Amino acid sequence: MYGSEADIEAVLERARRADVDHFVTIGSGSGLEGSKRAIQLSIKHRDVSATVGIHPLEATTERGVIEQYRSLLDSHHIVALGEMGLDYFRNPIAPEIQRACFTLQIHWAQELQRPIIIHDRESKGEVFSILCTHRAFETNYVLYHCFTNSVQHMYEIVNKGGFISIPGIVTFKNAHSMKEVARKVPLERLLIETDSPFLTPKPHRGKRNEPCYLKHTAQYIADIRGIGIHDLTRHTDRNTRLIFGIKS
Ligand SMILES: [Zn+2]
Repeated sequence: MYGSEADIEAVLERARRADVDHFVTIGSGSGLEGSKRAIQLSIKHRDVSATVGIHPLEATTERGVIEQYRSLLDSHHIVALGEMGLDYFRNPIAPEIQRACFTLQIHWAQELQRPIIIHDRESKGEVFSILCTHRAFETNYVLYHCFTNSVQHMYEIVNKGGFISIPGIVTFKNAHSMKEVARKVPLERLLIETDSPFLTPKPHRGKRNEPCYLKHTAQYIADIRGIGIHDLTRHTDRNTRLIFGIKS
């Protein structure tokens, strides 16, 4: 989350100057207010699209809350549902509640024909098996955000038709597994993301992350694949537009 309105305007403007020509802002992770804020930002800016989702760190089965999320989904500014999934890393919310909330959102995405953005932290393949049980790869675009799993799991997802999104972590010295994923994932299945304000890529590591730094992540992945940055972003741009239905 960023601060004031003026702060957000400045963040968008710096990114536009750094060749970012469309934004997908993630509504989940800051409660209902976060999802509403994402929609408002999208209403205000033609080049911003929004997502709505109940993050696993906020998973709930409380009817009143769930109904409020569901009612937000009728906005045409929403291009995807998520982040949704499972998070077993220091998450006080019980696995049964996380699973129920995740499954419910898969059904919403299927009903509304919208892509699914996955947050999977330490589920040990459970997210994948729930998606398979509900045939989500067959019915919807599925995008794994901030993919930190193994190359082997990347191939399982890609073979099902899923997409992999790589954040700025890939530029960190000890991110060996993510570098290998970024090198091997088919270009037709690769996206890049900021996860801002977190996970700032080098050489800005330690500062607040912003979309204007996305080019560093792109350059890094292009370098380790031995291709030009435009060759890489031609694919990531195409994949992003395909999944979210963003016109050029
Ligand atoms: Zn996440």
